[in-house]
Amino acid sequence: GFEVCKTIKETIRLISIVLEDEKIKLKLTLPPQESIVKGSPNDLKQILLNLIYNAIDALKERKVETPLIKVEVKYNNKININVRDNAGGIDSEIIDKIFEPYFTTKYQARGTGLGLYMSKMIVEKRLNGKISARNTRRGASFWIELPIMA
Ligand code: ADP
Ligand code: MG
Repeated sequence: GFEVCKTIKETIRLISIVLEDEKIKLKLTLPPQESIVKGSPNDLKQILLNLIYNAIDALKERKVETPLIKVEVKYNNKININVRDNAGGIDSEIIDKIFEPYFTTKYQARGTGLGLYMSKMIVEKRLNGKISARNTRRGASFWIELPIMA
């Protein structure tokens, strides 16, 4: 198993230069205690990077004035990791397709359409969790639910 909060902090450190360059603010909210889940930390890193890069793409594409990404972790009987942005959200006509392989709305060189498909595979097959997408008033909101080991 691995530590969720520590892994999230490491992932955000990895991407902090990109966020700085793009003048995107990232707000991280973690619970006070650490939590352990099954699997490899690289699995969670990969998923978070996919979600954060998607948020960056959406914020840049839509030229949001005060671009913001929020990453929040909550515990109930599971671990819930939320990644959300203020880029306006996912069009309702495509929201049911975004986890399908090769589905992309980006230019071919920019997007393969595999990011969310792979993320879903990793969450379900390797971390025994679930991933879902919805829209908030401000933008897209992705939830990852993982079973707690300790
Ligand atoms: P890719 O990034 O290569 O296009 P993904 O599987 O990562 O492939 O995402 C699929 C599609 O989902 C994107 O092309 C985009 O249309 C939509 N999408 C994903 N994340 C967001 C987001 N944060 N805001 C708006 N649309 C999004
Ligand atoms: Mg992507």
